[in-house]
Amino acid sequence: MTIPLRPITPTRLQAKGWARVGKPGAHLLRRGAWYPVVRISSSHIVVLDVNRRNVPVDRRFLEIRYHPPERWSIVRCEPREIQRVGRLFPLTYAVCPTCRHRQAFESDVKELTCDRCKKVAALAWDDLS
Ligand SMILES: [Zn+2]
Repeated sequence: MTIPLRPITPTRLQAKGWARVGKPGAHLLRRGAWYPVVRISSSHIVVLDVNRRNVPVDRRFLEIRYHPPERWSIVRCEPREIQRVGRLFPLTYAVCPTCRHRQAFESDVKELTCDRCKKVAALAWDDLS
């Protein structure tokens, strides 16, 4: 008697973690935005899923975490960075933990609703990016 092969249920791809860049890596990725880790390919290189493209990033630029981000990152920019982006942004803005939308906020808010994906989340005031 043979055991029938059961169809393999594709397990949902579980991210190996989430990573974001600090100031030194800001030219590579959006500051304050968390990207899923695809794999850690060597001791120096981490491959991230950036808008469905695999992008290798030097690990030294990254802050890595193992739980899905649930709070808005707060990014403080310097005026010249804003000039480089070529768009007007407030000096401090928040980045949505779900869709990475950049959004301005009032200085005293604790929670923010994303204009784009409607996610409501707290601001990570204690963890400035
Ligand atoms: Zn969002």
